[in-house]
Amino acid sequence: MTNRKFSRRSRFIAVFALAAVGAATRAVTTWPSSRHAAEAAHLGTPSSTGALEAVIDQPGPLTVETVASADWQIDRSGLINLKHPKAQAAGLKDGLEPIQIFFHAIHHPTRGLFIVDTGVENALANDREHAALRGPVASAAHVDLLKANAPLGQWLSAQHEPLEGVLLTHLHLDHVSGMPDVPSSVPVFVGPGETSEHGGMNVLTQPIIDRALGDRGPLQTFQFSRDPSGVFAGVLDVFGDGSLWALHVPGHTPGSVAYVARTAKGPVLLTGDASHTAWGWRNGVEPGTFSDDQKASVESLKQLEALAARHPGMSVRLGHQALN
Ligand SMILES: [Zn+2]
Repeated sequence: MTNRKFSRRSRFIAVFALAAVGAATRAVTTWPSSRHAAEAAHLGTPSSTGALEAVIDQPGPLTVETVASADWQIDRSGLINLKHPKAQAAGLKDGLEPIQIFFHAIHHPTRGLFIVDTGVENALANDREHAALRGPVASAAHVDLLKANAPLGQWLSAQHEPLEGVLLTHLHLDHVSGMPDVPSSVPVFVGPGETSEHGGMNVLTQPIIDRALGDRGPLQTFQFSRDPSGVFAGVLDVFGDGSLWALHVPGHTPGSVAYVARTAKGPVLLTGDASHTAWGWRNGVEPGTFSDDQKASVESLKQLEALAARHPGMSVRLGHQALN
């Protein structure tokens, strides 16, 4: 039997196993997305969209390097709401959509090196049996189609400075898949409610997420308060110097976070999975079935698109596809 055939058969079996487990657990609504400990983060000063926009177009001190860590393919219906009138008018159908798994390296002149999301770990390039993303759930998610090009561990080992922190846009499999390569002493920041999000599918994904997080200390939960400007659900000035901003954009997950980084070349917006695809961003169509709250997802995307429209010099980097 060829590897390819074996792979197809494995996935076939895995999908049926998942369906059975899914049916048995459909009533489970009390399963958290992670059992990893979490505590309030001390990083980040509550601010507002108005304060962000007062400085957003001024050159800033950060650099941002976006790394396409892996190529993958995943169901289009999860990435784009195919029931949206614009998707229907465009004739979009379900099927496998080519995507990439990114991490974004942000360098601050005094705070050092941070990454937004984690790409994929070294093991996904050379030791898949020991990767955190393995097993029937990973098979059902077509992990055999994932091609690791720039694993996080390889990239980190080529840097000349230590990693000071990981800023997660949210706690999904494809955003923590590089975490095993992050030293356990490095703090990891997430939005509110990410570990406590409840849902039946968590019974399947939680073991992978917790395996990726490993034995590190508690996740650091950003403490957002209401945006006085009434635009986003919350805004934090991450380092307190106006260089990096965290925007609470619930919808895809309850604690989804987007970031704006001010660089010498202008602002960079990292949307996370508030918008996965170039088509979704260009057409203002929210993510599909992978999202937790469709209504909130629509609102968060609308506000991010409006922010980008008010600041056309901003470089927009989406959750899973390059825009240009
Ligand atoms: Zn994602």
